[in-house]
Amino acid sequence: MFFLHGDAMKTPLDECMNLVELTEQFGSDDKCRAVLEQLRWAKGPVCPRCESKATKIANRFQYDCDSCHYQFSVTAGTIFHDSHLSLWKWFLATYLITESRKGMSSNQLKRMLKVTYKTAWYLTHRIRAAMLEVAPEPLDGTVEIDETYVAGRKRRWRAKGDVSVVIGIRQRNGDLRLIRAKDAKSKTVREIINANVGGEVEVILTDESAIYPYALDEMLKSKHKTINHTREYAHGDVHTNTVESAFSLLKRGIVGTWHKVSAKHLPAYLDEMCFRFNNRKNQFLFRDTLIKLILSPNLEYKQLTAKIQDAA
Ligand SMILES: [Zn+2]
Repeated sequence: MFFLHGDAMKTPLDECMNLVELTEQFGSDDKCRAVLEQLRWAKGPVCPRCESKATKIANRFQYDCDSCHYQFSVTAGTIFHDSHLSLWKWFLATYLITESRKGMSSNQLKRMLKVTYKTAWYLTHRIRAAMLEVAPEPLDGTVEIDETYVAGRKRRWRAKGDVSVVIGIRQRNGDLRLIRAKDAKSKTVREIINANVGGEVEVILTDESAIYPYALDEMLKSKHKTINHTREYAHGDVHTNTVESAFSLLKRGIVGTWHKVSAKHLPAYLDEMCFRFNNRKNQFLFRDTLIKLILSPNLEYKQLTAKIQDAA
């Protein structure tokens, strides 16, 4: 089904749903495919090769381009393409990953969907890749910054072996960024701060770590306030508690759900955490993630593993 007049159409996913309703409404590949067509082609099917209009081939989920006569389905050229997995399992996996506050391991997904570990791993990584925020807005207002060390004892200035430095930046009542840094040196931290904090920032709050006076540019330095953690956790409004609570959520996720995160996969997990956190008030996270999945270009298994190795 598609629109001839280009009017926006409501999809069944515009209603919030629980797992029972999801199963009732989308428990078959045909139903999943129908809603993907609505999500991908709000104004009717478009040829992925030449962008011309296309006509449905009777009784099939296939379309024929009016101009170049390329025949395609809604999943052509997307992340769902070439997947041997049923669309319904894709829907379930996306639902489970987006609705689990602390994340879901590939092992758990493997058991719940009855797929191989390799398939479950591939699914979680593909869904995470689609969840990536594209060009996020810079943070402003009151911003807390802190650093933490994942998989290892907290040792300032040093992050050797399997220890990764994670810089957390959190706008109060706003978004969170968790970024893996190659080290905790001021120069590295400065680049991360400048890429994530906007010119409208009012206050920057950190602990008394020696990193920050050198990591803040002049403009930001004038807005910098610190809290001495050896004496107190908060001095009125001056505290870094909200970024620290994000760190504890991250660590509970790593310990409780993923058990072990290798350094090379850490950035993908951090992105997933932030995406879920920043969408905590979004009742339509499942739908929005599906839209990202159907609109993202296909990510091949080989590309995915190469990309992760590059990032290591
Ligand atoms: Zn065409």
